[in-house]
Order: sequence, then C-alpha cells, then structure tokens
Amino acid sequence: MSIIDTHTHIHIDAFDNDRDAVVEHARAQGVERILTLGTDLASSKKALSLTEAYDGVYSAAGIHPCDAHEAKPGDVDAIRDLAAENVRILAIGEIGLDFYWETRHFEAQYQVLREMLAVAKALDLPVVIHTRNAQRELQWFFQEENITDLKGVMHCFEGDRDDARFYLDMGLHISFTANITYKNSPAVRAVSYVPVDRIIAETDSPYIAPAGERNKRNEPANVRLVVEKMAELRQVSVDEMIALTTVNAERLFRFPPISPNKIP
Ligand SMILES: [Zn+2]
Ligand SMILES: [Zn+2]
Repeated sequence: MSIIDTHTHIHIDAFDNDRDAVVEHARAQGVERILTLGTDLASSKKALSLTEAYDGVYSAAGIHPCDAHEAKPGDVDAIRDLAAENVRILAIGEIGLDFYWETRHFEAQYQVLREMLAVAKALDLPVVIHTRNAQRELQWFFQEENITDLKGVMHCFEGDRDDARFYLDMGLHISFTANITYKNSPAVRAVSYVPVDRIIAETDSPYIAPAGERNKRNEPANVRLVVEKMAELRQVSVDEMIALTTVNAERLFRFPPISPNKIP
C-alpha cells in the first residue's frame, strides 16, 4: 500500500531547484500522494499551482498563525473562493496558534483562526491545525467559542496525552512528524495513545527533519521513517501502520484514489 505525506510545503523556494527529484524520490519510497499547505494567500495559490504540475500532489489553503498579522482585508474571502472553486484543495490549513515563533499579535492569530474555521465549516472541508507553545490557549479558545466537534487534524502534535484526549474528544485526528524520533519529545508518549482510526503521518517538509539529520532539509520520502517509528512505538508491523495511516488520511481528506496504472 502506498503512503501519504499529509503535510508538506513542497511548493516553497526550498524546493525550487530539485522539486521533480524530490517528488520522484518520494514515489520511490512508496509515497504516492502528498499534501502541500499554504501559509498565506499567495502561498496557498502557489501550493494549488503545484497540484496541476504533479500527479498525486494536492493542496490546502490557509493562513498560518505566524502570518496572521500580515493578512489583508479580503484575504480570508479570497482563500474561501480558492478552496470553493478547486477540487484539488482538500483542506483549510494551515491555521492555528503559535506563541513560540510569534510572541506578539495574539489578537490577529485568534481572529484569523476564528474566520478560517468558519470558512472550513461553510465549505465542509477538514482543517489542519498548527499549535506551538499554545496548547492551553487553543483548548481555551475552543471552549470559549463553543466548538465541541471539528473535522480535521492536529498536525505535528507536540502535546501530551491529556492534550491528545482533549482533541480526540472533539473528533480531531492526531498527526506526528519526525519529532517522534527526537529524544525527550513528549509526543512520543502520545503515539501509542491515539486510537487506530485517528492517527496520521506527515513530514512537515522542509522542516522537522528526522533525528540525526536535523540540520538538513526534510522531504516527503522521509514520511516512511515517521511511519516506521510509529510502528515501533505501537508494536505493530510497518505494513499495518502504513495501512492505518493511509486509510485515515484518505478518509479525512477525501484523497481521490490513485489511478490503477500508478499502483506499484
Ligand atoms: Zn505547522
Ligand atoms: Zn507546516
């Protein structure tokens, strides 16, 4: 079965020199489908353009919390229109709260998140939520806004088991990157806690390279390493872990099936 990298930014400059090779390398590792996520309006458009250039590449449109304060009036509406008009945009993201990289502009982060969640709901698309150093604040936000169920995924999950429980109770999926290969990552303990039908894998390329390569550019081929680590932590076979994460990602994002002649 093929693997899906559900979270990348392969449309950004870091891949301009060798994008074809990066996609080929992923395919050689069995990574047949890749989601690339926008972080603002321009980036969401660029991500979408990649879906036309490569089979198996799909995109998401969103405004990242670190870019929230730079969003212009009309950007949220433009992203809504983009997502409404393009079937290869499978999700709204990334969106969320980040109080690690962005220690100002809190109000802009909350406001953009609120508006993007409304867009996702109106379009019936799943959301991809980024949260860094903001678990308590995000949970507080959901409670204040009376958001008790949500279709989507907590990406690059960095919380503990209690945080995972909170999001699982809302109906969210939990996605892990190669952060689970790092020593002392609290996410490691959450890996075996997430139910079989809610666990998802990603790389967040070009970021979050696996342990031992942390200064290198990450790429979608490495999602295989993430799934292998998950299998080890959950004590299941790699094939089983691939099957679980692929089926979960297909269902959440409604990935179109791979055309039969593409199955290796
Ligand atoms: Zn993120
Ligand atoms: Zn990301």
